[in-house]
Amino acid sequence: MTRFVLSIDQGTTSTRAIVFDHSASIVASGQLEHRQHFPRAGWVEHDAVDIWDNVREAVGLALTRANLTHGDIAAVGLTNQRETTIVWNRHTGVPVCRAIVWQDTRTQRIVEDLSRDHGVDRYKATVGLPLATYFAGPKVKWILDNISGARQAADDGDLLFGTVDTWILWNLTGGVNGGIHVTDVTNASRTMLMDLDTLNWDEQIAADMGIPMSMLPQIRSSSEVYGVGRDHGMLPGVPIAGVLGDQQAAMFGQACFSEGMAKNTYGTGNFLLLNTGRTRVHSENGLLTTVCYKIGDAPAVYALEGSIAVTGSLVQWLRDNLGMFSDASEIEPLAREVEDNGGAYFVPAFSGLFAPYWRPDARGALLGLTRYVTKQHIARAALEATAYQTREVVEAMNADAGIGLAELRVDGGMVANELLMQFQADQLGVDVLRPKILETTALGAAYAAGIAVGFWDCQDSVTENWGEAQRWSPTMPLLEREQLFRNWKKAVTKTMGWVD
Ligand code: ADP
Repeated sequence: MTRFVLSIDQGTTSTRAIVFDHSASIVASGQLEHRQHFPRAGWVEHDAVDIWDNVREAVGLALTRANLTHGDIAAVGLTNQRETTIVWNRHTGVPVCRAIVWQDTRTQRIVEDLSRDHGVDRYKATVGLPLATYFAGPKVKWILDNISGARQAADDGDLLFGTVDTWILWNLTGGVNGGIHVTDVTNASRTMLMDLDTLNWDEQIAADMGIPMSMLPQIRSSSEVYGVGRDHGMLPGVPIAGVLGDQQAAMFGQACFSEGMAKNTYGTGNFLLLNTGRTRVHSENGLLTTVCYKIGDAPAVYALEGSIAVTGSLVQWLRDNLGMFSDASEIEPLAREVEDNGGAYFVPAFSGLFAPYWRPDARGALLGLTRYVTKQHIARAALEATAYQTREVVEAMNADAGIGLAELRVDGGMVANELLMQFQADQLGVDVLRPKILETTALGAAYAAGIAVGFWDCQDSVTENWGEAQRWSPTMPLLEREQLFRNWKKAVTKTMGWVD
């Protein structure tokens, strides 16, 4: 009897495998970090082979710790860091170069060329996204233009493109021995190559970027049986039945199924998504239109998204590049040693500014410094930066949607930080809610897979299983809250136009 669902959550910093039981409780998990490569300013790479190795090891760890074998697993769900781009040889399975990570800004020139004469919104009506370094399409073009032999091999039909979901699925289902080359609608909606209405690749955009159609995976729903684990692998014959980009998976795991429901994930970056139902809302305020999920043959559900490139990774940067502490959790006690930010504002525009500004020419800045400012104030300013950036996205969303957000469901590594959560509630002026199961991303993919194979009946089971663990309500006086936010906005303007 198969009583469990296995979820693989391949994130920007680590890979997790989690076994869930029917009540959506975690039975066991395995987790491994992979190396971040920063070969030049603005470049961020991962080794796709490391990622695949870590997937296998994490799955092995989770199954061993749960004392299970593949025969106990009803289905596998997969969720992944989005936009990160891998190109590999279909005959050898070897990537032509390291994966280009979503935060990487090397495609700035390509993006400028594509926007010249047409503006950054050239493809927005079709794909829901402005031209930006963030998305996968321009990254594929960079690889074909810059890696020796890649263009010819692509034209000869020897290369495959995939976001991380596609790479893992291809390897899980057989690799060079018959691996399937597919992606789901949510991941495809982050490439700049998919038409949001037809849910098919747009051949004209692919041609504009010089990407042969033969490289592109087949687009499928987020919840269906795509294939089964390869023979002699760790999961032979087990159906792989759910795929969602990490932020969309978190929407699923947070049970944000009705129009108007929103969640914010605080990880490497922050990603706030608002369910807009079957309507794809065009943003006038710097948000993205994206696919939220599609269950089997049912119509797609759309979302508006505010993506912030740097939030938790600023904490990592303070830890790794400045040595301010040795563990991310130490930032909270450090920041609590002072009452306020001491006048300091930290704008972490390390990958330019994403939503709602979309300014690739911005770079990070620490402003408002005097001799009074200590590292405690800087720690506080770093945490506050996450909350201000989130407020900017929420304000854009309220303007686009025409109604104010009533409360915010949160998840991700940074929500362990209570100082930040309280400050977030204060800045937004609405309650912030943390669910009982914080692994919402992995859980969302598990649900998508479990629903496809009948392990769970339908989305109502997800809603029933969701429970609130903690709530923060606003307490800060209005004047103080607005003064802080005004200063933040002033600081942001100083970071723009730094790169010519
Ligand atoms: P991802 O899925 O993007 O890899 P996670 O959701 O695992 O990220 O969150 C990890 C991020 O959260 C890291 O960038 C880390 O710096 C940050 N983080 C973890 N714990 C804390 C904490 N207590 N306070 C502030 N930031 C934290």
